[in-house]
Amino acid sequence: MNFNTALLHQSFGGDKSSGATLAPICQSSAFAHESAEKLEAIFNSKAPGYAYTRISNPTVDSFERRIAALEKGIGAVACSSGMAAVTMSLLNILQSGDEVIAGSALFGGTIDLFGDLEAFGIKTVFTEEVTAESVSRLATDKTRAVFTELIGNPKLNVTDVRAVSEAAHKIGVPLIVDSTTATPYLINPFDHGADIVVHSSSKYINGSGNAISGVIIDSGNFKWDCSRYRGFEEYKKFGRLAYIAKLRNGIWRNMGACLAPMNAFLNSIGLETLGLRMERLCDNSKMLAEFFEADGRVKVNYPALRSSPYYELVDSQLKGMGGAIITIRAGSREKAFKLINSLKYASIATNIGDVRTLVIHPASTIYTHSTEEQRVNAGVFDDTIRISVGIEDIDDLIADFKNAIDKSENGGN
Ligand SMILES: *Cc1c(COP(=O)(O)O)cnc(C)c1O
Repeated sequence: MNFNTALLHQSFGGDKSSGATLAPICQSSAFAHESAEKLEAIFNSKAPGYAYTRISNPTVDSFERRIAALEKGIGAVACSSGMAAVTMSLLNILQSGDEVIAGSALFGGTIDLFGDLEAFGIKTVFTEEVTAESVSRLATDKTRAVFTELIGNPKLNVTDVRAVSEAAHKIGVPLIVDSTTATPYLINPFDHGADIVVHSSSKYINGSGNAISGVIIDSGNFKWDCSRYRGFEEYKKFGRLAYIAKLRNGIWRNMGACLAPMNAFLNSIGLETLGLRMERLCDNSKMLAEFFEADGRVKVNYPALRSSPYYELVDSQLKGMGGAIITIRAGSREKAFKLINSLKYASIATNIGDVRTLVIHPASTIYTHSTEEQRVNAGVFDDTIRISVGIEDIDDLIADFKNAIDKSENGGN
């Protein structure tokens, strides 16, 4: 099956019992069964079935199976948000005293989360770029995971997944990749050696900005050493499914990070057009980035431009596509604000992956809790504007940005 066919048909054939072409929204908290024995069997994973929506639900199940297949994983667990997915992917394997190696150019919420984890004895060692070299250099006997974003939001640095996963495996730890901004359209990180993938499916998978959700997918390839990863002993019997089984029966279930059935439904619908949207979004982004570069009045950063240091990696690892986020530097904070306020079509909003173009000034919003050093490491300057490119007609987008740059340069109205 090719990509767009797989989005519709892989691990999905509608609801067999009713003939519904979509997985129905199973908006029920609990599921009743004919006998105490039956519920006992379900509770103890000895029979298939549902008991309680915090633990599993048919609509959520359908979404999870489709995502797992799309990412070529052996299983997936859906979460209430992308942040819940990031948190649970780590807490499933970490304990007090452990260290994580992570990029310093991560999504703002994830950087804040690593700060929160310090209170629980989990330390994060940040590196400007997650590379094979930095992983080997920063590894200690306490390192238990390497965490990176595939295309950093908003620095737009690209991780060489093959090289980094090899370095992580050399020190006996898994590589966890946040692939939100790349999406399965650009890459299946498992093909390049990643062990766990997380997505904020609120973004490109949903596609229309109508439901928050996250998902964790396991490749099943990492061999968990029970002497280093606490609690894996009792999940050994699940073989390659140990990570997913532990997650489902442990921290994910007990912290109540489940996805609501309605949001699973909305994300499943969004998923079906991921290929069409990404094709258009990547085309639009490339043309808009090329316009900025040719115009020359703002400084543009987009990984699929020849001028980007990541151009070759984009070519070899991401099929030549750079995703749908562009950052530009307007020259000053005042010019950046003026430019943003002069746009006709772009909504001023803190989101990415919507069908409509969105813009934000990261320094005064997403990174308002960060230190100056954290901001600079994340590629956020006082004059940076992040653009989440939409599916509008490119001529309209270019005309809109050209007009806004004119206004910001002239200081007029
Ligand atoms: C948005 C985002 C998150 C957090 O996802 P939510 O669904 O907002 O909780 C995590 N990582 C990246 C790269 C994101 O863009």
